[in-house]
Amino acid sequence: PRTLVDLLRAHAEARPEAEAVVELGGERLTYGQLWHRAARVAGGLRARGVGRGDRVAVRCPAGTNWALAFWGTVLAGGIAVAVNTRSAAPEVEFVLGDAGVTVDLPADAPLPDGEPYVIADPRPSDVVALFYTSGTTGFPKGVPTTHEACVTSAENLGRCLGVPRDAGPHLRTLVSVPLFHVTAFNAQFLVAAYVGGTSVVMPALDLAGLTETLVTERISFLVTVPAVYSLLLRHPGFGGADVSGVRTVAYGGAPIAPALVRSLREAFPQATVINGYGMTETASLITVLPDADAVEHADSVGYAVPSVDLGIVPIGADPSVGELVVRGANVTAGYWNRPDATADAIVDGWLHTGDIVRIDEAGRVHIVDRSKDIINRGGENISSVEVEAVLLSAPGVADAAVLGVPDDVMGEKVGAVLHAAGDGLDLAVVLAHCRDRLADFKVPQYAAVVSEALPRNAGGKLLKNRIREEVRWGAP
Ligand code: ATP
Ligand code: MG
Repeated sequence: PRTLVDLLRAHAEARPEAEAVVELGGERLTYGQLWHRAARVAGGLRARGVGRGDRVAVRCPAGTNWALAFWGTVLAGGIAVAVNTRSAAPEVEFVLGDAGVTVDLPADAPLPDGEPYVIADPRPSDVVALFYTSGTTGFPKGVPTTHEACVTSAENLGRCLGVPRDAGPHLRTLVSVPLFHVTAFNAQFLVAAYVGGTSVVMPALDLAGLTETLVTERISFLVTVPAVYSLLLRHPGFGGADVSGVRTVAYGGAPIAPALVRSLREAFPQATVINGYGMTETASLITVLPDADAVEHADSVGYAVPSVDLGIVPIGADPSVGELVVRGANVTAGYWNRPDATADAIVDGWLHTGDIVRIDEAGRVHIVDRSKDIINRGGENISSVEVEAVLLSAPGVADAAVLGVPDDVMGEKVGAVLHAAGDGLDLAVVLAHCRDRLADFKVPQYAAVVSEALPRNAGGKLLKNRIREEVRWGAP
């Protein structure tokens, strides 16, 4: 198939009874039902003025309605705008305006319904979806994706994550992170649709439900962010559950602590454990760390996937450390409506990722930090991610965020915001732990211990802008 329309039609004809989308605690849709109901939504959208290339805001909660709204838009020939449903009202307004939507499908309104309609001549080069970046470093930016890009991305991701092309109903994936980000949408929803498998969708994260669902829904393919795995493994219900049906345990979206990778290996001994690094702008993955390297090189995101070329723009004297740039068929040609941001990000065909990396002799990529979060202390570049990883391995630390604290003499100094584990933490012990493992200039000089969990977005990323605004430093 070269378009999503052909893809869905093929499954609906070949295996109409196979399950396509299951909403936990809600409806179950087979491929046949998904096709027919999405065609009715498409008809309803047409009646509301949606033609080829018109934008439809999908704001349904994750589940069968999200799937019907998405596929209905696709069959109508429109562009599905995946709106972050956890955003505050002004952010939603921003996205609806930026995308210029013809029809808004909010959470509680019934889906449009009309005479079944399926666009007759979708072109592979037609834009079919607009996904927004997470807005970790600024306002979210829209990334247009074509039919062809969706199909190739699903194919690539399936290959990288070890999903057989003919997996069919054996591929059952549990979607526990929002569908409006590329992690779940590309690596799960589209991969399942590509091979004719099933997306089992959790409308909201529920840890007890997650463990139970792995068993009752016979989940074979697990993809989620490190924060969810960490909560899952610590959940009391997880211990005794038989999770031997899970064949793939993939993670990405944010840095993972090496200790958590080891725990995943122990908790899922039958599964391949895979780290995938990508961004909204690249739809599919940039690098993959295969199972064989997962534990030994847990500090790496792995090797470039075959469809991309990588480069480094050095930030200091060492040519192997710098901003990662990437080009390839799955890299976007530009942002929606944002020529300024496009010109900043894409230079001579290379996308600047905003991630500072080191590439080792074996070609493995290590994410050092986001360029905006690198701390410059008197000319020394310090990776906040490196210091966070050490802090996370210290006794009593449940979560940690490392930030630059402005300093008149040094420019910046290292500050640590620590969320204490249940039994509390001893700052002197934590700092001694850091001194044993880090160069002296990297050891935090400011610290704040907080009782609430650190704010993370739906993709599991630390919201450093917010932490920076709210923190009250005390010197350790
Ligand atoms: P914005 O671009 O709006 O600031 P964002 O970059 O967080 O937001 P996404 O496109 O959702 O938006 O996330 C991509 C980023 O996520 C990457 O640039 C990288 O920093 C991080 N990331 C993705 N996968 C991994 C991974 N496996 N390990 C570490 N970091 C990752
Ligand atoms: Mg980004």
